[in-house]
Amino acid sequence: ARPVLAIVGRPNVGKSTIFNRIVGDRMAIVEDRPGVTRDRLYGVGEWLNTSFSVIDTGGIEIDGEDVILKSVRVQAELAIEEADVIVFMVDAKAGVTPSDEEVAQLLFRSKKPIVLAVNKVDNLARQDDIYEFYSLGFGDPVGISGSHGIGIGDLLEVVCNLF
Ligand code: GDP
Ligand code: MG
Repeated sequence: ARPVLAIVGRPNVGKSTIFNRIVGDRMAIVEDRPGVTRDRLYGVGEWLNTSFSVIDTGGIEIDGEDVILKSVRVQAELAIEEADVIVFMVDAKAGVTPSDEEVAQLLFRSKKPIVLAVNKVDNLARQDDIYEFYSLGFGDPVGISGSHGIGIGDLLEVVCNLF
């Protein structure tokens, strides 16, 4: 079986954008076991000689903060169980938010390797925005931009070395 990468983070940080960049058209059949997998998307990614499964968590985002946080929590817990490596995604433009800290609390309990990816680093001028994310406690953040396709290879190199 392929190793599994899960992308976890609060809504709107760019998880689905990165998922689409990594997976392209290698979408897996989306399982629909009610209440269990309906809001996760599966795909296949490749980096150099490594082929891996990718899970985009939090595909369903319902308005209302409690619902969002509950959904993020459930998704994160499922992803922690299923993943070999977790990408914890945050948003350089937003900075560290209370919801990021809640996700961080969940991930601290996991024994799986976690890579902190700071998305929306759209240009070199924004590269300095990644440093505040050291405060989350997951080590060196990797700056990426889903919409500009920056840093994805660097991120996948770190991830694949952890499989
Ligand atoms: P998700 O809720 O975490 O899956 O986030 P989405 O992938 O749906 O993206 C949320 C919003 O952020 C969308 O409007 C995206 O176009 C935008 N976005 C995603 N990646 C980037 C990026 O690298 N830079 C910028 N500026 N916006 C981005
Ligand atoms: Mg999404």
